[in-house]
Amino acid sequence: MILFTNGSVIDGSGRPAEPLSLLVDDGKIVDVGAVQPSSEMEVCDCSGCIVAPGFIDVHSHSDLEVLEHRPEKVRQGVTTEVVGNCGFSLFPALPEGPLVPSFELFARRGTHRWPDAASYFDQVEEVGAYTNVASLVGHATVRANVSGMKAGAMQPGEMKSAEAHLASCLQQGAIGFSTGLNEVPSSYGDFAELEQLCRVVRQHNGFYTSHLRDYKFRILEAVEEALNLGRTTGVPVQLSHLQTVGRKNWEKMEPVLGLIERAVADGVDVGIDAYPYLAGSCHLTQFLPTWALEGGTEELMKRLALDRTRSQIANETEAGMSNSWSDLLVCGVADSEQPGVAGSRIQEIAGQWGCSGVDAALELLLRNRGAVRVISFNQSDENLRKVLSHPLTSVITDGLVTDGKSHPRTFGTYPTLLGDFVRNRKWFSWEEAVHKASGLPATRFRLSCRGLLRKGYWADIVVFDPGSIGTRSSYLEPDTPPEGIVHVMVNGTWVIQEGRLRERYPGQALRH
Ligand SMILES: [Zn+2]
Repeated sequence: MILFTNGSVIDGSGRPAEPLSLLVDDGKIVDVGAVQPSSEMEVCDCSGCIVAPGFIDVHSHSDLEVLEHRPEKVRQGVTTEVVGNCGFSLFPALPEGPLVPSFELFARRGTHRWPDAASYFDQVEEVGAYTNVASLVGHATVRANVSGMKAGAMQPGEMKSAEAHLASCLQQGAIGFSTGLNEVPSSYGDFAELEQLCRVVRQHNGFYTSHLRDYKFRILEAVEEALNLGRTTGVPVQLSHLQTVGRKNWEKMEPVLGLIERAVADGVDVGIDAYPYLAGSCHLTQFLPTWALEGGTEELMKRLALDRTRSQIANETEAGMSNSWSDLLVCGVADSEQPGVAGSRIQEIAGQWGCSGVDAALELLLRNRGAVRVISFNQSDENLRKVLSHPLTSVITDGLVTDGKSHPRTFGTYPTLLGDFVRNRKWFSWEEAVHKASGLPATRFRLSCRGLLRKGYWADIVVFDPGSIGTRSSYLEPDTPPEGIVHVMVNGTWVIQEGRLRERYPGQALRH
């Protein structure tokens, strides 16, 4: 038995902190209150610290990292992750054939060998993980499985097969379905296709997370599309990493929140998530017109090598930009030997190369076979505050470890939330921030007996020092562990003790 005592307990429900003790036995919280220490208890003195539920990252891209025992998430106090987001899950397995760069990010590391959700969960259980893992089924993966990178509507037979894959993965314990509608091949799915698939999700009591079709000029239509899927199918809808991208679209945040509130009033079950950063991270290919990627990377390379198609791609890319080429920082390229590329803004690279921003972008894609990751400075402080403080918003990392420089959210989302936005900037109370990182996402994603410090709940616990929690992780030097995370316990097992990581993998596969 382990007794957490002398700490300030924030239970994750939003309720005010209280000076309580917490008794853990056999993986669960067995008592919360004025527990007296006894000789059979290991006592953990939490003086000066906050004791909170482990953070629940419902929008993670650690699909592979959990199996590789990467410590970035648990070091920030995360005890449960939901993977399979943005349309990309590691199952069902992909066929041999041309893919797009976003798949190759996973494929480079020998992936997509899991035929279904059950085999992925089995592997999590076999190798163990630092954190608990739940998964969504990715639309892009399902679509690629049944119809490759082909544009346009799926044939009726393909559609049946997509539905069957989705249904069996949901039966095997996947908790829902995700789309990545501004990237191929998810973007090829129209409303009718998504509606049909969401009906399958509804039948299996799952929910739908939407990386929207557009976060820029057409974000209002994109939000409406996601909400309408909730309206017509009854499926709960989660709007993923909500933001309005680019200076030209900042004024759209108020109307977006208006649409969401109207849908809630209409009875649509809707939630929001967001990460606490002004910049996002994505593939440079996301800035291209979708036709340029049709057929996969090989075809893109051919189009970029031909003057006529290249200039058409350049014109359409330029017209679709909602921010500038100085807002895009290259963080990872396939050819890491190129001097002065990783860590530079595309406009700076254009300056070195003596060409325009868009030409530099296309040249980078050509030289790196389409594999260029960028940090994109998208948001205003004011909008970030509006989204993060909205009562429907859970805080997420959206993080994964990439080649080159990963986004700092992979290393420091929750320490940033607590140190920067609670202690330093006072955007929220400690209780509110902890709720957005634990109780709220657990309820929203129906992770039973997690996300709160209550008797009978799993002992997923983080103890942090409110005076020092924070991170020095930055866009240019992201790979820095956070400060102030004192202890992390997952299912009653210490994973971090006195700030030191222990090599233990108590995380479970959370099958729905
Ligand atoms: Zn996404």
